[in-house]
Amino acid sequence: MSTQTYDLYIDGEWVKTENYIPVYHKFTGATIAQIAKAEQHHVNAAVEAAHKKFKRDSLTPFQRYKILLKASELMEERRDEMELSLIREVGKTRKDAMNELDRTINTLRLSAEEAKRIHGEMVPLQSTEGSENRLGFTIRVPKGVIGAITPFNYPLLLSTHKIAPAIAAGNTIVVKPATVTPIATFLLVAVLEEAGLPKGHINIVTGAGSQVGEWLLDEPKIAMYTFTGSGEVGRHIKERSGMRPVALELGNNSPNIVHLDADLELAARQTAARSFHNAGQACIAVQRIYVHESVLQEFTDLYVSEVQKLKVGNPEDPDTDVGPMISEKEAARTEEWVLEAISQGAKSLMPVKREGALFYPAVMVDTKPEMKVVCREVFAPVVTIIPYSDLDEAFAEANNSEYGLQAGIFTRDLHIAMKAARVLEYGGVVINDVSTYRNDVMPYGGIKNSGLGKEGPRYAVEEMTDERMVVINL
Ligand code: NAD
Repeated sequence: MSTQTYDLYIDGEWVKTENYIPVYHKFTGATIAQIAKAEQHHVNAAVEAAHKKFKRDSLTPFQRYKILLKASELMEERRDEMELSLIREVGKTRKDAMNELDRTINTLRLSAEEAKRIHGEMVPLQSTEGSENRLGFTIRVPKGVIGAITPFNYPLLLSTHKIAPAIAAGNTIVVKPATVTPIATFLLVAVLEEAGLPKGHINIVTGAGSQVGEWLLDEPKIAMYTFTGSGEVGRHIKERSGMRPVALELGNNSPNIVHLDADLELAARQTAARSFHNAGQACIAVQRIYVHESVLQEFTDLYVSEVQKLKVGNPEDPDTDVGPMISEKEAARTEEWVLEAISQGAKSLMPVKREGALFYPAVMVDTKPEMKVVCREVFAPVVTIIPYSDLDEAFAEANNSEYGLQAGIFTRDLHIAMKAARVLEYGGVVINDVSTYRNDVMPYGGIKNSGLGKEGPRYAVEEMTDERMVVINL
């Protein structure tokens, strides 16, 4: 396998640096690429380039639309290259890589469309006595340089969710991808360059978050930070950004309720499939399943028989359902949490098994609310089934979390469904499907410690523009 080198991309030039960081194949451990390690002067040059372009070289909405649409077409043409790259650098299964690519292409298209829809509104100034000769309206103006910092788990899609709306809104960007999965963002940037995005509109700097990320936070010319990642880093970015706006997509611990009137086969199939995709490393992966005690046994049997069908192993094998986690360290941390719960009285209905970074699906029962696998974000192929007797108690337990991104409920009762929509304290409530359902057109974002602001191109464009009032004295 050849080792590709990725340099920094600053002001439309590929820039070499003194040091490079290896990127590994997450299943075989082989080195697949090396990426440039940026120094502070590179970060500074990238922000300067983005700032200069924003001031002098803005694109019309139609130009932005055409560039983003072309990028979606190029991405489609390069499916094979993109998918293979995701499989290798993230350890994603082929099915998960295809899904990420489909969603990325859709997000580019949606962003292209949004570029044409940015508009303000008339403000009825003349309705006030004394303002009869005033005309008022708002326009939406881009914010300037957007600093985007992205996580390891959906490196192509989540970079696109920041970069594409930023372009649609007329901003320029400096992006820093996760150090362990940076290649996807390089491929995206190359596609945007080929699609005609002029020099300097997008810049990529790579290296450790504790250095390159911090240097980005030192840059006063960045108008807004958009971040997806852990709560700890998100909180830090918010503190460092002062009065500047931030969009934060952070952690979660998704509850899913299976009520006594649910279609149990549907519930078992969907929860089993979406507990373990991406090796459980999805912020809206099913983590806690609350099941009414009267259907507990039947649901659990159906669920476990679905989980037993999952094939765990090499992500390059097209039949694999669950590939490796991002690192052996993360898999060992997961094993530790599961074994700790077992030592405190819980059981796993599947054998607890780890081979390097591969962690086999664990289905925990007899847990207690204070166990880490229940109350913390597990971010791994581990699920807990918890019985309840009273629905209000299930709602209360589902809400008993520092997080609030998305939740799910299976019920055939419309009143219960609507009550769930009202009382579950989450950014999104999915009825008769799992918390993991996400269509990129949706407003997506959490409450509580799951973050601030919404993604989804339309909503991100709103966040990445300012509403400006214009008054004309006629
Ligand atoms: P992470 O917070 O460790 O890293 C995210 C990014 O922040 C990386 O690019 C990293 O280099 C950078 N970073 C680290 N320290 C920094 C600092 N001091 N200053 C600036 N940047 C810094 O997260 P991760 O491990 O890559 O991703 C997993 C987390 O992301 C989970 O908590 C998961 O729930 C969350 N996530 C949330 C969503 C969502 O939409 N809410 C989606 C995916 C992942």
